[in-house]
Amino acid sequence: MKTTDSSGDVRLSGISKTYGSFTAVHPLDLTVPQGSFFALLGASGCGKTTTLRMIAGLEEPSSGTVHLGDQDVTALPPYKRPVNTVFQSYALFPHLDIFENVAFGLRRRGIKSVKKQVEDMLELVQLGEQARKKPHQLSGGQQQRVAVARALINHPKVLLLDEPLGALDLKLRRQMQLELKRIQTEVGITFIHVTHDQEEAMTMADTVAVMNAGRVEQLGSPADLYENPRTTFVANFLGTSNLIEAEVDSKSGDDIVLKAGDGKLVLPEARCAAPAGAGGKVLVGVRPEKISLTHADDAGEIPVGRNRVTGRIAATSFIGVSTQYIVDSAVCPELEVYVQNVDRDTRLVPGAEVVLHWSPAHTFGLDAAQDIDAGLEEEAAA
Ligand code: ATP
Repeated sequence: MKTTDSSGDVRLSGISKTYGSFTAVHPLDLTVPQGSFFALLGASGCGKTTTLRMIAGLEEPSSGTVHLGDQDVTALPPYKRPVNTVFQSYALFPHLDIFENVAFGLRRRGIKSVKKQVEDMLELVQLGEQARKKPHQLSGGQQQRVAVARALINHPKVLLLDEPLGALDLKLRRQMQLELKRIQTEVGITFIHVTHDQEEAMTMADTVAVMNAGRVEQLGSPADLYENPRTTFVANFLGTSNLIEAEVDSKSGDDIVLKAGDGKLVLPEARCAAPAGAGGKVLVGVRPEKISLTHADDAGEIPVGRNRVTGRIAATSFIGVSTQYIVDSAVCPELEVYVQNVDRDTRLVPGAEVVLHWSPAHTFGLDAAQDIDAGLEEEAAA
């Protein structure tokens, strides 16, 4: 049901929020296209809920504008915006049954014949059978689906979801993630979802904005953010990254050659977010599952052209599908490696000398100076 119309585009221009001398959201430009499932992801206090509340009209921006489609809604109160919000607390009416909870928005607008619309909506969230139950007779996940149906029946252009699954246990959360994704695909409207759970954002959203200290650090598809993090915060907030301190040595075609300890590492220039001038400091990143582990006795069998680092296994843990190895190396302590449990090399035990190796194509480069700069900036602001 996705359309090419842009009436559900959300456009934030220079929007910010300050409380006294504290800046919760720094001036932010962001466009969320009609029909997308967009996630604002970040740790507690990073400003994601404040951003969402400014879109809903529940919080007045200190600067900037909010557009929905072509309409500037910055000055409109929440109830005049074509937007509905689903919160973590479902806030259903306990004395009304599920049907009447969903019908509420229609009845309030004076619509008399609600039956067909409510039934369709209950069908959409797969609660047709539960229409005459009271909220307390439903599970947490079912109640959350009622809350979604109750919001969607008003035909908002945009649905805002503020940690909607936060109160559910892990298993139910997983089910509801898929359920919400299905509902969004079916109704085709813009969903903006706030969460601190990276897995949740990656499972559901087409586009994720990673927020940190009131700023969007990086925006992209889940796969792009995972494979090409541009900051150390993103590299560590989404999954695990090994980050090795290195120094730019030279260029070779489209690659940068770096010195790390006594060895060399190769990084495609296109995957480097740091200035790549000779002598520049770069954090060389690689995800744990991209690394292969070879016992030092077999080092001669490693194909040429791979990045390699030598080390000693400090710890191992068997986690079913894979084994996790912690390897201490002269270039970096505690490198993490995940190896699939297929034909496990029984020599790979704590104390064993090993070579870690991976493809340069799976390597990314981050600006080692960036965190120092950001730290100084925060200090100056405080
Ligand atoms: P959480 O996941 O914990 O809700 P969040 O990323 O959604 O976090 P916000 O609720 O947007 O964070 O808050 C951002 C910052 O603004 C926090 O440091 C918070 O303490 C501060 N803040 C929020 N509302 C107010 C307020 N009314 N007055 C002062 N500071 C506030």
